[in-house]
Amino acid sequence: MSMGSYLSDLHTHTDFSHGKGSPEDIVRAGIRCGLKRIAITEHAGGHVFSGVRGEKLTRLRKETERLASVYARDIEVLFGLECNLTGFGECDAPKDRSMFDVLLLAYHKGVVPRDGFLLKRSMEAAGLHKSEPELTAKALLAAAEKYKIDIFAHPGEYVKCDIGTLARGAKELGTMIEINSRHVTLSPDDIRLIAKIGAVMRPDSDAHSPERVGELGPAIAAAAAAGVELPGDGL
Ligand SMILES: [Zn+2]
Ligand SMILES: [Zn+2]
Repeated sequence: MSMGSYLSDLHTHTDFSHGKGSPEDIVRAGIRCGLKRIAITEHAGGHVFSGVRGEKLTRLRKETERLASVYARDIEVLFGLECNLTGFGECDAPKDRSMFDVLLLAYHKGVVPRDGFLLKRSMEAAGLHKSEPELTAKALLAAAEKYKIDIFAHPGEYVKCDIGTLARGAKELGTMIEINSRHVTLSPDDIRLIAKIGAVMRPDSDAHSPERVGELGPAIAAAAAAGVELPGDGL
């Protein structure tokens, strides 16, 4: 494929959390829309309502491995997780990083705060505390470094994040910044700033149902509207 095109979707949910469709439905949807690579990235355990943990996470891993083998000729299936910021420089990524092909990190509501920083962010999300965008960016970066995060998912959703700080750190760490098709959280100025700093952006669907798998259009359109050409995934 040509430069700037994408045949991968590295952010999807299933009925293991609050999504619709089994992991197999999600993988088959990916094949139907022509993807060459798909990641199942359920909410990590720190998410009170949607977190996948313990025996259920083991079951999901085994099912993802089974799908990777069954559909190997059609699509590459990756096992991932969407981790939650739980404190400054802390997230709920499992200790054994080697089990995962891809780790996403984001701030989400519905996570028990582990420190004063995250408590303030919970209050910010509820409109009860001022935003501290630079601190939020630094908290995400510190956690990404410690837990070897691959992608910052939907930065700026729920709580404000200083995109310049995030992009400079992301470039240094080699962590990608997501343009989320479900909720485009980055403004045209944000996208231009990230491009100027030189951090890598990528579009992902954040699909919560098979119908939405591979829906990268809104994210790609957001980059185009900002006048930025995305690098493509090389597939
Ligand atoms: Zn999310
Ligand atoms: Zn998600």
